[in-house]
Amino acid sequence: MVAADTDVVVVGAGVAGLAAARALALGGRRVVVLEARDRIGGRTWTDSALGVPVDLGASWIHGIDGNPLRDLASAFGIDTVEFTVGSFQFDGRPIAWHDPAGRRLSPAAASAFVDDLHALDAALETVVAAAPPPSTYATAVDTALRALGWQGDRAARIREYTAHRSEDLCGAPVTVLDAHGLDEEHVAGDEVVFPSGYAQYAHALAEGLDVRLGSEVRSVRTTDGGVVVGLADGTTVTAADVVVTVPLGVLQAGAVTFEPPLDPEVLDAMGRLGMGVYDKVFLRFPTRFWGDDWVVRQQGSAGVDWHSWYDMSRVTGEPVLAALVGGAGARRIESLPDALVIDEGLAALRRMFGDDVPVPDGYRITRWAADPFARGSYSYLHVGASPDDHDLLGTPSGRVQLAGEATWGDDPATVHGALLSGLRAAGRLLGAEVEPISLARSVPR
Ligand SMILES: Cc1cc2nc3c(=O)[nH]c(=O)nc-3n(C[C@H](O)[C@H](O)[C@H](O)COP(=O)(O)OP(=O)(O)OC[C@H]3O[C@@H](n4cnc5c(N)ncnc54)[C@H](O)[C@@H]3O)c2cc1C
Repeated sequence: MVAADTDVVVVGAGVAGLAAARALALGGRRVVVLEARDRIGGRTWTDSALGVPVDLGASWIHGIDGNPLRDLASAFGIDTVEFTVGSFQFDGRPIAWHDPAGRRLSPAAASAFVDDLHALDAALETVVAAAPPPSTYATAVDTALRALGWQGDRAARIREYTAHRSEDLCGAPVTVLDAHGLDEEHVAGDEVVFPSGYAQYAHALAEGLDVRLGSEVRSVRTTDGGVVVGLADGTTVTAADVVVTVPLGVLQAGAVTFEPPLDPEVLDAMGRLGMGVYDKVFLRFPTRFWGDDWVVRQQGSAGVDWHSWYDMSRVTGEPVLAALVGGAGARRIESLPDALVIDEGLAALRRMFGDDVPVPDGYRITRWAADPFARGSYSYLHVGASPDDHDLLGTPSGRVQLAGEATWGDDPATVHGALLSGLRAAGRLLGAEVEPISLARSVPR
């Protein structure tokens, strides 16, 4: 029998793939990482075109308490800044609310609105726990609002907030998000971001590994003795096992074929879960014209797509604002030319801050749905899917395992979920659980 090229092929050099590969290399396995793009990091992607690092993909460590990403950041010597507004929080940090006409809410009105959101969330907990499957988050919100007896503008403001929360955290319209789709969204502890960018993580994980850029995988074939991984350029790499970490959207599009097909339970879970869309529009201004709030939110129809602006000067010191938009709004904005996106963003800011808001002198716009190696931003619980579907997706089919954020049921759609899914896959091949902090060790050359 011809010897395999390597012990394990890992497909994808995002955090899941790099974590899996590093753990395997530290465990003494020969590993080759095949990455389609000309960069590593996947959905962690730091860009410096605006003169300061901005994260076009993930920004936050969502909840630092007991989060292995935070411990690893310290071990890798990566600096962080506290910025606990990354999970669409409605209080706890300085947040400015603007009414549908663009006027800032008075402290009393803002506080009444925040009280309403607390009451809504308490009511939702009971409603969601009793929701008969399949039901949507939108239906759960309606039921909770009926129980609270709120109508008119009061109910409208709550409905739009919950819609934006679904779009932000899941990248999905509230009408297709399962009632349980936000069950896992509880952040333990503060949230932090990286002033010099999330990409530092991928670079630290990749240190000492055999990562082959520009290597787009098209097929994975299991043979008697191993796997044959086929690339777009017609070449192959053979191995005993393969860990495939391409995003759910890429799998659902059939961009990688499996022979024999993945196990039916894996394919069923893949069909039930959804791939959400969430994009960022960064605008750099000549000067800062906004106040000291960390986030500015616009209510009403003017805020359908342009509802939330994050003050990035908190992170880098430079006058940059980031509008974050998910779901249908993100898909619409992705379809527009850059100039129109900037015009819309500027009009939204002038509505709140007046006509003196200057024209931006730099911008960066993401289009994650259009990206062939992402095909969306992160997975979500589509109505009818079960929270178990994430872990089912990560069930090995013989020598082939899927990993990545979509396969981690405890915290899908996060970087730490991606990391832990990669370590689970590596642990299965090594026959022992891998401690995340062990990744801080150097890979022997
Ligand atoms: C805009 C945005 C904001 C986000 N914000 C946060 C946040 O603040 N905090 C947080 O925790 N999470 C956030 N996330 C989610 C987080 O980025 C992801 O959950 C995580 O990075 C996924 O890592 P992964 O390794 O599973 O997948 P990826 O990072 O997508 O890695 C998969 C890799 O596979 C490669 N690939 C794809 N197809 C092929 C192929 N055919 N052949 C070879 N390689 C291929 C891709 O190029 C990619 O490098 C955000 C995501 C986005 C898009």
